[in-house]
Amino acid sequence: MNKRSFLKFCSALMGTHSLAPLLAWAGGEKLKNWAGNVEYSTDNLYRAKSFAQVQEFIKSQPSLKVLGTRHCFNRIADSTRQFISVKEMEEVIELNATARTVTIEGGLTYGQLCPHLDSKGWALHNLASLPHISIAGACSTATHGSGEKLGNLATAVSAMEIVNAAGEVIKVSRRQDANEFAGAVVGLGALGAITRITLDIQPSFQMEQYVYENLPLSELKNHFDAIESAAYSVSLFTDWQDQRINEVWLKCRTDQEPAFDAPAEFFGARKATRNLHPIAALSAENCTEQMGVPGPWYDRLPHFKMGFTPSAGKELQSEYFVPRRHAIEAILAVERLHEKISPHLFITEIRAIAADDLWMSPSYKQPCVTIHFTWKQDWPAVSQLLPTIEKELAPFDPRPHWGKLFSISPAQLQSVYEKLPDFVALATKFDPHGKFRNDFLNTNVFHLSS
Ligand SMILES: Cc1cc2nc3c(=O)[nH]c(=O)nc-3n(C[C@H](O)[C@H](O)[C@H](O)COP(=O)(O)OP(=O)(O)OC[C@H]3O[C@@H](n4cnc5c(N)ncnc54)[C@H](O)[C@@H]3O)c2cc1C
Repeated sequence: MNKRSFLKFCSALMGTHSLAPLLAWAGGEKLKNWAGNVEYSTDNLYRAKSFAQVQEFIKSQPSLKVLGTRHCFNRIADSTRQFISVKEMEEVIELNATARTVTIEGGLTYGQLCPHLDSKGWALHNLASLPHISIAGACSTATHGSGEKLGNLATAVSAMEIVNAAGEVIKVSRRQDANEFAGAVVGLGALGAITRITLDIQPSFQMEQYVYENLPLSELKNHFDAIESAAYSVSLFTDWQDQRINEVWLKCRTDQEPAFDAPAEFFGARKATRNLHPIAALSAENCTEQMGVPGPWYDRLPHFKMGFTPSAGKELQSEYFVPRRHAIEAILAVERLHEKISPHLFITEIRAIAADDLWMSPSYKQPCVTIHFTWKQDWPAVSQLLPTIEKELAPFDPRPHWGKLFSISPAQLQSVYEKLPDFVALATKFDPHGKFRNDFLNTNVFHLSS
């Protein structure tokens, strides 16, 4: 890269909202999450540069939280005392072609790992809507992409090293201790600091992305399974107006048969003739390439490009997982609330996720459909709406995304997480005195089992 393009690249990065809170904080403002809706309860942040520093620091503190890339919308990451960041621990430790795994340090983001993996001929099975997030934080909160045959991002984890409350390193692996491992992967930040993660990889692949506009809700109702199985990853975006899905995003692997032939019409929706943003009024400049242009998996699976603002920017998010078998009923239940929802909404995204066996994953033992809301940043209005939406979804036992806003009670959460008592026991083994707990975890996870 020459000097001119380097400066252009830097100024593009500086202009993105994803860096803005960090820069503001460095300039003396309070430490906040990415969206700016959570001001953390302390500014004390220790940046560990090595494994030994993580161990020493954890030993020396009575109470602390590990902070990732701060992309959660609720207080799951908050601390009143002290944060530790492992952001500067960002090495790719080993790419093992025989075992088909990559082992990385705990501070790496998907945006850092994926181009590297691809350059060596390897890929991950799926990604979230954005690559900017830390791998450890994403897996800890069961972050997911879309694809009915694809588990959430944490399902790629095959081993982890976690520094527990005593400063000891605990290794968990799918192969050696399947039970403890299944409890630890979606760990909600309650077990300790993840310093190493091993992920399953597969040979690199190319993808094409197609967007269709205006799918009638009646077509979705009648052909939901066919629509969800039409591509490797399918996302449905709606503003809940006019009984339609505004945009259908189909992400297709070029190496899979039968190939998607990209007809002009897809269940009554028309093929887009230009790149689109999920929020149609916004420029598609920040979005990954569409219109069937082939490209690497890591530049098609997310909706948003690295180095650009993902989503709307100034926003709030909520998301509910419902069992796949109730997908249509749940979607129609939300649709009935459209007059209340639409004025406060940027966009809803509906995605499908395969079942897994990770205790605190919302897809534990059940294939799910998620109904996601990107809200305008008006918490008084959104906080009034969430209980109404949750009441409509209650017959389907919704599980909220761990990193987004919800008002479901701790008792309701307990009733939908059968492994929660086992998780509390596991977390207590790693952290007997609650060094890594905070109000969010005490309220939503730990008080439940007493
Ligand atoms: C614009 C936008 C788009 C999003 N899109 C999606 C999406 O497509 N799919 C989806 O499921 N979610 C999505 N999310 C939610 C979000 O990406 C995740 O919940 C997030 O990635 C969490 O990772 P983080 O590093 O930002 O965690 P933080 O918010 O910093 O922390 C979250 C939790 O992880 C723990 N943690 C972080 N790092 C470590 C570590 N090294 N060791 C131990 N614990 C750790 C923290 O202690 C805390 O409990 C989106 C969020 C935003 C802002």
